[in-house]
Parts: sequence; structure tokens; C-alpha cells
Amino acid sequence: MSKPETSLMDRLTALCKRRGFIFQASEIYGGLNGFWDFGPLGVQLKNNLRDAWWHDMVDCPPLGPDGKPLSIVGIDTSIIQHPKTWIASGHVAGFADLMVDCRESKKRYRADHIKVYTVGYSTPKGVGAWSLGVLEGDDAELQVLKRAKKLVQKQGGGDVRIDSSKPDTLTDIWERHEDIYGPDAENPGTLTEPRAFNLMFHSYSGVFQNEDSKVYLRPETAQGIFLQYKNVLDSTRVKPPFGIAQVGKSFRNEVTPRNFIFRSREFEQMEMEFFCAPEDGMMWYEFWVGERLRWWEAQGVSKDNLFRHVIADADLSHYSKGTSDIEYRYPFTAPGFGELEGVAYRTDYDLKQHQEHSKTNLEYIDQENNRRYVPHVVEPASGLTRGVLVLLCEAYQYDESRASPEWLKLKPSLAPIKVGIFPLMNKDGMPEVAEKLYMDLRRTYTCQYDAKQSIGKRYARMDEAGTPFCITIDGDTLTNQTVTIRNRDTAQQEKVALDKVRAYLAERLSA
Ligand code: ATP
Repeated sequence: MSKPETSLMDRLTALCKRRGFIFQASEIYGGLNGFWDFGPLGVQLKNNLRDAWWHDMVDCPPLGPDGKPLSIVGIDTSIIQHPKTWIASGHVAGFADLMVDCRESKKRYRADHIKVYTVGYSTPKGVGAWSLGVLEGDDAELQVLKRAKKLVQKQGGGDVRIDSSKPDTLTDIWERHEDIYGPDAENPGTLTEPRAFNLMFHSYSGVFQNEDSKVYLRPETAQGIFLQYKNVLDSTRVKPPFGIAQVGKSFRNEVTPRNFIFRSREFEQMEMEFFCAPEDGMMWYEFWVGERLRWWEAQGVSKDNLFRHVIADADLSHYSKGTSDIEYRYPFTAPGFGELEGVAYRTDYDLKQHQEHSKTNLEYIDQENNRRYVPHVVEPASGLTRGVLVLLCEAYQYDESRASPEWLKLKPSLAPIKVGIFPLMNKDGMPEVAEKLYMDLRRTYTCQYDAKQSIGKRYARMDEAGTPFCITIDGDTLTNQTVTIRNRDTAQQEKVALDKVRAYLAERLSA
């Protein structure tokens, strides 16, 4: 297995476009930064991941520490809620990233995304050091060296070397900003002072467009759950400990959307708020961190590429008693990790805020124990679209010995197409048998019938789409009623009796 020259992310992005997983939004108009569209294979993969989450969270929730099934119900709330929601939640005042503008390149960056490297140089004119800012991630050091070499060329040539063992964060060394080069600047000192930038998109509801009719697109799905928590309690038979789960779109006007679908301005989240008695909060927090790590592993993400990042007490939000990020080793963070999901013990903060701002009592009346309390909440919040990126990164394989060197080793139950069905040749009755099998299997599985080009090319097309099994109707089918089933991962083929195909697939596709 040898690796081609282009970076893994470039190859993955190209494969996603070529095979219809993910396209740039509004591409024919030049694209819109931070927005992506899911193509035929991509939407199938995304829906499969969403359905797996919903199944394991709502339809068949995990067993609690006492061995009994947890009680979790689903909900689907509006993207636009009463604007007071976002005042109560703290998003209007506090949902802001520090950002900087570059006076030279006219670009805008999130301050915490700029990493500054000290690069020493020696030229015939003398020695010194530059402070070069780059966007973190994707081959940052390479970028820095490239720019340093350019600068040294301007001085008539010389040597450069990175002096910092670890880059500095822009905000930490802001006092030196006169000397710092912005990520796209040719001169130092062009970055403006970091200032807060609210990430919520807004619009107006109704005919009059003024401050009174201003509404926000939700930046997270969680708040809709808090607003309906009381209605759910009153209309169902749940009682703490219980959860409410939701999947849906969220919007954040991210300063620097990047790394493909990792950080976009419109994305989907899968969030669950777990309501419990105050004294049990820490226990449920630990429970959910463990559950969620296990769940991502069960979706085919290797343990080695997952990491629990416990947020240090000093960095916790003021309302949180514990937060852990479940991180993944993305190609652009490797050898480091980046967030995939956050599990936060949010105490009773959100419900109390909404109680105060709405003047509605949100206490739970615990008749069994003769007490009332505002429940505490543990929230596992993950990105659905970011989860799709994780699945794609994890599945991407490169193997030159194959007809299609690039292929996707997706977990069979998540693969967009489950079975490819091919007649070996378009004659001798093979297409008729293949079509009959296709008509039968398509009732249960997403199947694709393909009779075009050589069998090798057909396998290659299916490997690129991540299809776990391909069934070929060949000469043997007509004489002894067997088909050839090829396994995507091993490229091995085996003969299976035609009437055993359903059982064969059922056993392997539920995994
Ligand atoms: P980050 O630090 O990456 O900005 P966050 O801590 O703000 O993320 P949360 O508010 O905890 O994110 O949101 C929960 C999950 O939603 C994240 O773990 C991530 O998977 C997803 N998510 C958040 N922002 C984005 C985005 N701009 N694009 C895609 N997914 C996102």
C-alpha cells in the first residue's frame, strides 16, 4: 500500500464529489463558503448514521447502571424559537468567538485558530526571527516553512528553521501583534485587535422588519428541548431520570468554516438532554461519556482514533460541573485530535434560566419522595454532519493492488448501498436471473443493478461507494443455482446457493 502525493483530505474531498457523497453548495455560482450539499450517496450515509443514533438512543435506549432500560423520548422542535430563548440561554450575550480581521488580505479569522510560529532566519544581511501566523491544523508547519522561504528569498536567500517547539496562540501573545504576520499577509502587524463576534444568524418574522420582529436561527438543537421539557413531562409517562432526544439542523455564522464539513455554517446535530435528580448528576455524566465512546466505536470508529478530552476545571463553562469532549484523530489534526461530540453536565442552569425568563415553574414534583426540584441535565451533543466526516475519514482506504485503489471500508449497516448485483455477461439468460434477484432483494436492501463494463470495473465502482457485497450471476448460476458473492474488505469471492443469498446477507448486513 503506497500513498499518493496529494493529502488525504484532498483525496477524500475529491472522492466525495466524484461519487456523489458531498458537493459544495451553490457550486455553479462559485460556491458559498461554509455550506455543503449531500449527494445521493452522502444523504444515504448521513441518514443511516442518524437512524443508528435514533435507534440506539430513542427506540432501544441503553441499559442504565441498574440493568434496566433507560427512558428516552424523541422530539422535533422549530429551528426558530421565541427570541427570549436565546437571551435566557446566554447565546445573545455570550455566544461569540473572538475574531480578528486582516487589514492587508481583508480576511477574517477566529483568533483561537491562528497559531503563531517563531521562525529563525539567517541571510547574508543578518540573522533574526519572524512570528508567522497560520491557521491551525492541516500541515501548519509546512505552510509556515513555505512562507518563511518566500520571505528569505526576498532578502536574497538564506536559511530558515522553526524555533518554537509549540506554536503560540494569537491572544496569548497579542502584546507582540506589531511583529506578527497574519495567515495570508506579506507584512507584519496587519491583524486587528480580537473582538467578539456573535455567531447567530438572524432574520425577521412577520411583515415588519425591526428589532421587535428579530428572530434567530438556532445555533444548537438543545434549547428547543428545554422549552418543551414540561410539556413532555405532562403528556407522557416519563419521569426523572429520563432523556429527550432531537436531531436537526443548526446554524452558526462561523468565522472560519473549514476542513471540509468539519466546521460549516449550516450543519446537523444529534443531541440528548438527560434529566435527573441533582444528586445523581455526576454519576450520569460518567455513564454517558462511557456510553457515547462505546457507541462511536460500534459505528466502526477505531478505539485508537478516539480520545476522551476531559475539560480542565478552570476551563469549564460557569454552569458546568464536568465536560468531556469525545475527540477524533482527523487527518488535519493528526497526530492530535479534534472534537466530535461534547458530553456536558450542565446542572440545572438551562431550566433555571428558562424558568426565570419565562416565569414558568419548571420544577419536577417527585411525589414518591415528597419533594420538588429543578432537574439537573447531562447532555451528549454530537454533530451528525461531523460524524459523517469521521465515518468517511475512518473508512477511507488506499490500496494500489485494487482496480479502484481508493475504497471505503464503511460498517455494512451504515453503507449507502448494501448490495451490487451484476450479470457476468449480458447474454445466456444471466441478465434475467440477475434482474429477478435484484427485484427480490431491493424490497429489503438498497441495491444497485449494474450490467455496464467489465466485472472488475463494476467491483471498483462499488468499492468506492463502500458497498460491502457484490453478487455476480455467472455461468454456474444457470447450471447449478449458485452465485458468486464478493466481499468488499477481503476482495475474496465465494459461491453461495441462490436460495441462501437472503440468509447470507441478513447475517452480515445487520452488523
Ligand atoms: P467547536 O469547539 O468545534 O466549535 P463546540 O464545542 O462549539 O464545537 P458544541 O456546541 O458542543 O460544539 O456542539 C456539539 C457538536 O456539534 C460538536 O461536537 C460538533 O460535532 C457539532 N458542531 C458544532 N459546531 C459545528 C459546525 N460549525 N460545523 C459542524 N459541526 C458542528
